[in-house]
Amino acid sequence: MMKLKIAIQKSGRLHDDSIKLLKECGIDINNGVNKLKTEASNFPLEVFFLRDDDIPQYIEDGVADIGIVGENVVLEKKKQVNIVEKLGFGKCRLSMAVPKTMEYSTVKDLENTRIATSYPVIVNEFLQRNGIKAEIHEISGSVEIAPGIGLADAICDLVSSGSTLFMNGLKEVETVLKSEAVLAACHNLQPEQQILLDKLLFRIQAVKKAKN
Ligand code: ATP
Ligand code: ZN
Repeated sequence: MMKLKIAIQKSGRLHDDSIKLLKECGIDINNGVNKLKTEASNFPLEVFFLRDDDIPQYIEDGVADIGIVGENVVLEKKKQVNIVEKLGFGKCRLSMAVPKTMEYSTVKDLENTRIATSYPVIVNEFLQRNGIKAEIHEISGSVEIAPGIGLADAICDLVSSGSTLFMNGLKEVETVLKSEAVLAACHNLQPEQQILLDKLLFRIQAVKKAKN
C-alpha cells in the first residue's frame, strides 16, 4: 500500500509539538529519537526525523511528501514547496536588534551597518524592500553575541520572549517576519498521496478547531 512520507524535526523546538499534533490526529507512532524513520501503526504514514534546515529540500525533491517546519526556514531556503496549513505552534519572529545604547529611530538607521544573521536571504529582501544598504554577515549560531565581540553593529535573529536579546545588551527594533510551524507539501504529489494528505489535513483542522 502507498504511504505518505512526512519529515519532522529530529530534535529541537518543533519536535515535541510535531509528534503531539500527529498523536492528536489519532496517529500512533513510536518515536525513538535516535531513529532516522518510523512508521505509524494505524495510518499509512512514514515519519522521517531530520534537521529542520534540510526539510524544504527533501520535500522539493519528493524524498518526503510533506513536512512540518518553521515558515522562516521555508522562506529562507527558497525551495519550491506548498504551504498547506499553519499549525499554531513554534511561534516566533525574525527581528532586527541593536545594542541598547545605540540611538535608533527608523529603519534608515541600519544604513551602512554590518548585520549578523543566519537568515541572509530574508534579511536581504527586507533591506531591498526598505531601500537600505548594509553588509550582511552570515553566521550559523549564537548570532546574539556578534555585536558584543565587534563582529557586527546589528543582528537579525529569531525571537520569542526577547530575554536572550536583553541578556546580551540588545534591543529589538524591527520585526522582519512573523513565523510559526507550517505543514509544507511537495508540488507534485501522486493522487494517492494527495488523498492521504487531504485525510491528514482534515484531522489537523479538526484538532485546531477543537482548541479554539
Ligand atoms: P536543527 O538541529 O533541526 O537544525 P535548530 O537549532 O536549527 O534545529 P530550533 O532552535 O530547534 O532549530 O528551532 C526550530 C524552529 O523553531 C525555528 O526555525 C523557528 O521556526 C521555531 N522557533 C520558535 N521559537 C523560537 C525561538 N525563540 N528561537 C528560535 N527558533 C524558534
Ligand atoms: Zn536548523
